[in-house]
Amino acid sequence: MSAEKFRYSGLSDEQCAKFDFFADMLIEANKVHNLTRICERGDIYLRHFADSLAVIDILKRIEEQNDCQRRLIDIGSGAGVPGLAIAIALPGWKVTSVEATGKKVRFQQKVRDELGLGNVLAVQGRAEELAHDRVLRESFDVVTARGLANMTMLSELTLGFVKVGGSFLAWKGPDIEDELDGAKKAIKKLGGKVRDVHPYKLSDEHHFNIIEVGKLMEMSDEYPREFKFMKRSPLGK
Ligand code: SAH
Repeated sequence: MSAEKFRYSGLSDEQCAKFDFFADMLIEANKVHNLTRICERGDIYLRHFADSLAVIDILKRIEEQNDCQRRLIDIGSGAGVPGLAIAIALPGWKVTSVEATGKKVRFQQKVRDELGLGNVLAVQGRAEELAHDRVLRESFDVVTARGLANMTMLSELTLGFVKVGGSFLAWKGPDIEDELDGAKKAIKKLGGKVRDVHPYKLSDEHHFNIIEVGKLMEMSDEYPREFKFMKRSPLGK
């Protein structure tokens, strides 16, 4: 996708300029640090930016709910997607971006500083530890995650951050039925329920889904468990 085509997606010139700068920084930084596999300019606009923004209409619907404070946390955000892309497109949302790898977090902090993204906080840490932090636990309207884990493990890694009544949004591929079936028990145990599946198309050959999980009840303090336990004995098996 060219930068010109990306411009038609309802963004202001200033927002487009920020995405251009973000792409420049990603291409430059990726020459030195291995931040992302997707590093060719056209792919960055399509597979990183447009793909991140597939969630915007869902967020616009969520923000109309009375108690929405527009607080979002992106887990395993890599080079800053979808988190920083959402922060550029929706400056009224406050975005916390969590990533385990230091060099990726430092890159995100540089992007935040250079683009003046005052609504972004990039934090280095592991989701399964941060989800037990009292300030972060069950305090976000929305949690997002793309490319981090299968739906069962992903739910345990993310649902601890979602406030009751809030949503978890997961980017998934075209075929989700088996993965979703396999995760239903785990999601229920963690206080959630699949609320909706939003199919979207990036191009004729790219069809994907965003899964929306609602948080219905508080999550037991025993979750999330340490990573090795999550891996060894997945919930709901
Ligand atoms: N969301 C990005 C990156 C996906 S790769 C994208 O879509 O391009 C998954 C990322 O999650 C990696 O950068 C990895 O370092 C990070 N990660 C893996 N396990 C994590 C955990 N438990 N807590 C926080 N980050 C994690």
